[in-house]
Amino acid sequence: MPYFLALDAGTTSNRALIFNEKGEIVSLAQREFPQYFPKPGWVEQNPIDIYSTMSGVAAEALAQSSITAKDIHCLGITNQRETTILWDRKTGEPLANALVWQCRRTAPLADQLKKDGYVDFFHEKTGLIVDAYFSATKIQYLLDTVPGLRAKAEKGQVAFGTVDSYLMYRLSDGKIHKTDVSNACRTMLFNIHTMDWDQEILDLLKIPREILPEVQASASFFGETSSNFLGQSIPITGVLGDQQAALFGQACFAPGEAKNTYGTGAFVLMNTGDTPIQSKNGLLSSVAWQIGDQVTYALEGSIFVAGSLIQWLRDQLGIIEKASDTEAMALAVEDSNGVMIVPAFTGLGAPYWNSYAQGTITGLSRGANKNHLVRASLESIASLTYDVVKSMQKDSGLKRKVLKVDGGASRNNFLMQVQADLLNIPVLRPKCTETTALGAFLIAGMGFHYFKDLDHVKTIWQEDRMFTPSMEENRRQDYLGRWHKAVDHCLSIYPKGGE
Ligand code: ADP
Repeated sequence: MPYFLALDAGTTSNRALIFNEKGEIVSLAQREFPQYFPKPGWVEQNPIDIYSTMSGVAAEALAQSSITAKDIHCLGITNQRETTILWDRKTGEPLANALVWQCRRTAPLADQLKKDGYVDFFHEKTGLIVDAYFSATKIQYLLDTVPGLRAKAEKGQVAFGTVDSYLMYRLSDGKIHKTDVSNACRTMLFNIHTMDWDQEILDLLKIPREILPEVQASASFFGETSSNFLGQSIPITGVLGDQQAALFGQACFAPGEAKNTYGTGAFVLMNTGDTPIQSKNGLLSSVAWQIGDQVTYALEGSIFVAGSLIQWLRDQLGIIEKASDTEAMALAVEDSNGVMIVPAFTGLGAPYWNSYAQGTITGLSRGANKNHLVRASLESIASLTYDVVKSMQKDSGLKRKVLKVDGGASRNNFLMQVQADLLNIPVLRPKCTETTALGAFLIAGMGFHYFKDLDHVKTIWQEDRMFTPSMEENRRQDYLGRWHKAVDHCLSIYPKGGE
């Protein structure tokens, strides 16, 4: 039987999974690695830790299984996106710690670009909103602050890459310096129309082109791992950024098909087909993947707080013991008794984009109890998702028929039912909730030509449960009216400019 290795390089841990051809997980190993917070808002990782934990879990996953490296057909990589690594092209030595996507230290550089009037320039070329989140300002920062780095870069001695690139470089003992289009498009340096690094952007930001990796289709032959890794060289045939991998793993292959991953935050992605859509509603346009010459685009909306609201109920309020308690507590009451929570702990993301907003709770009465708070919390996660999905429909004109779901909080049946009720479409939960790793395996299978087409890949996706909308229309409208009043109230207390 053929086997496939998926490397899932997450933000806090690395995982290696071996899949069989049916998409069943044969073995899985996971290990966390250290995070560094040198100042408030700064987040770093050591690239050496990223590689060593990944090679460790790959060896562990192989050892746990009954197969040998020879049985592995090919390898796929999925990874935390935007995180920026610079290394010595010859020795492979990292020239600084990785600046993680969450790191806000380059916010002043992004603010300056906005002040100088470059918002539309970047939006039109890259599909992104100018922000410190993306790699561009992180590279600028490193080139300008690490002594000697810019001179070295101009001499062609420096390589830049996101985590996929760095892993491929290390896995191949320095032979591969590449990335795929889904990762390249999150750097804020890549033109999603010409599908190449954008020279005007590179000139504006003074980033030497020589440091950039070669960009390939997501499903393609990137090179082979060195036999120092697992004792056998394995072809790397698929690479996808984590959210795009989840969209692929959810088999959202047709325009209008969408998924939401309910983790710490929530990420909604919708396939928009072969044309990028410029959002007018605060969403990002990304390349979803490229297979052969065929490029597929996606709209993306990020919700900053989802599962972390449940953690807050547990750790700060102490009204639940564990996340899964919330389902029974929400079902123990008929409704939230008028309580509305807008969980803007770190501002509000798409489609509101107000970084000054803070959380609000409205509608408290003497009768409000902890079950009402729990229910209002779960409803708020579904409501924020509703707002993003509606914006996607407005931007794309595409009506979705279902929403596919994954991530830790998608296990909550109450939340999934509310989601179906508010969107008024069925919500589908797959059997395999490891959709990110599944996506890496599937894209590698495509790149290896093991799967002949997407119809073949589709047969691997299996439904666990469908949640069918069952809320009366007038109740739905009444609830959404009250939800939007609560959001308006929150935004009116914390206006955008912070004034
Ligand atoms: P991440 O990948 O962002 O670390 P996960 O996909 O592992 O997140 O999901 C973990 C999150 O899901 C946590 O924030 C947790 O509070 C939430 N969560 C897990 N199980 C449930 C549940 N049954 N109901 C609601 N939230 C849950």
